[in-house]
Amino acid sequence: MKKITDIYHTNNLDLIHSFQDACKNSDFKEYLDHLNIKEDILMKYTSTLEDSFKEYTNCKNCKNLENCKNTVQGFCYTPVLEKEMISFSYEQCQKQAKKEKEESYKKNLSLYELSEELKNATFKDIYKDDKNRLPIIKYFKEFMEQYKENLKPKGLYLNGSFGSGKTYLIASLFNEMAKRNVKSILIYYPEFLTMIKSSFQTNYKELLEEIKRIPLLLLDDIGAENVSNWSRDEILGPILQYRMENYLPTFFTSNLTIEELEKSLSITSSGVDKVKARRIIERIKQLTISLELISKNRRNHNSCETLKKS
Ligand code: ADP
Ligand code: MG
Repeated sequence: MKKITDIYHTNNLDLIHSFQDACKNSDFKEYLDHLNIKEDILMKYTSTLEDSFKEYTNCKNCKNLENCKNTVQGFCYTPVLEKEMISFSYEQCQKQAKKEKEESYKKNLSLYELSEELKNATFKDIYKDDKNRLPIIKYFKEFMEQYKENLKPKGLYLNGSFGSGKTYLIASLFNEMAKRNVKSILIYYPEFLTMIKSSFQTNYKELLEEIKRIPLLLLDDIGAENVSNWSRDEILGPILQYRMENYLPTFFTSNLTIEELEKSLSITSSGVDKVKARRIIERIKQLTISLELISKNRRNHNSCETLKKS
């Protein structure tokens, strides 16, 4: 019968052999050498060290983050010596750290019912092929200067054709402002209303407070919602009132002109109320200057997602 010490000895021999085998790969051996850990500790972890070596090699040959071959993109499985044991953890690579730093401004933007892609909208990517965009770009420059000087600039009521880039343009402004540490919320208004109306979202009062107070707000595609007394008088009205009183820049995009929006806001299933619609329009006029963007449709016609949410 084998004694316990023999079994221990045999297991140890196995460890030594597999370690020695692995070290025949000179690159692996070099990798271990640079870890600066004693051999008798290393040999207990041969196969895990081979895994981490693979990731280390991927990193050494890495051209860009998008093509990262590691298990967790942007992270490298790395051995760390703790007392007499090695533990392995996923360490962020330099490229990932740089990306996170560059993109940290994105936390200043919150999107509701809109594609996260809008966080990548930038001034430099705005199509310059269409002179209809020039007044908007000019307005953006003025807005940014006035905001910096604390001159309480007005927001924009941007109406125009479907797919012309209205949402993209405002998102690009909010991204630039986010880089200057100004927080914003972008809301796809029709679906947002449905979302807060749903019984699952009982906590919307808190969210409404945040929306009222956020430095920059976009109500995207206003006029495309099913107007009700509730949405007009309990949601939209109080948001606009608060923002007007506090000079908080508020942006709207719409397929409707302001006149058309007034009409749309006056009709609900409960009847016609021109006075209440007018009150909302007065607030929008106080809050914004109005520009129009008529341009070709840039949307990808195959994508329902894009159609609905951008
Ligand atoms: P709208 O809000 O006017 O209906 P969008 O802003 O959703 O139009 O733009 C339509 C599509 O074109 C989107 O997929 C958007 O990402 C893209 N797009 C619009 N303007 C630009 C731009 N200046 N640069 C790059 N992509 C754009
Ligand atoms: Mg849009």
